[in-house]
Amino acid sequence: MADQDKDQKDKTEKKRQRDDSAQPVVLPGIHRYQFFSNLKDRALTKNLNRLMMFGIITTLGVDIIKPLFRGLTQTIYCYECRACYATQDNCPVGIPFQAELVVASRVSDYRRFINNGGLKCVRCGNCTSFCVQYIELQEVFGQMQTITMDAIRKGKVPKGVLVRAMEEGLVGRDFIADVADVLGKRT
Ligand code: SF4
Ligand code: SF4
Repeated sequence: MADQDKDQKDKTEKKRQRDDSAQPVVLPGIHRYQFFSNLKDRALTKNLNRLMMFGIITTLGVDIIKPLFRGLTQTIYCYECRACYATQDNCPVGIPFQAELVVASRVSDYRRFINNGGLKCVRCGNCTSFCVQYIELQEVFGQMQTITMDAIRKGKVPKGVLVRAMEEGLVGRDFIADVADVLGKRT
């Protein structure tokens, strides 16, 4: 009887053992059970690294898909080296942190774009010559201005952000009438 039990136990154990190489490939060089923990091993701590991995992949996905969707593909190539800060006095409207505008454009962060002077950029292209990735910054900023103004008209940007931008001279002459108009309608 004891032998039978042992045989049964061995059989069950064998069944639960996996043969990784016989499993379908989910990524090049990675079989299914190498990607997900075996059921019997599943525990929160053992799967935390997988959860982290999915989190990172999702974040990267958002970072890449969003600009692609908005037509701001070039922003993906910015690796935030901040070499463009060397523009300094060559920026006619005194924008100090061009990389902030690029990152704001990549993630469609209107508030960050406005607060860093994105709406006063005159798209001269002077900062482009400092970009080590040869990103056409004036094109990126121009597209993001259009998208931001659209969001402002649709009421997606808080009134406080617009009031502060107007007070601090962060809205250029191309957009000042439109922003004032939106603010007037919101009072
Ligand atoms: S493109 Fe815009 S941010 Fe760049 S130098 Fe010209 S005004 Fe400044
Ligand atoms: S120099 Fe180019 S790659 Fe570097 S932070 Fe500025 S925009 Fe991004």
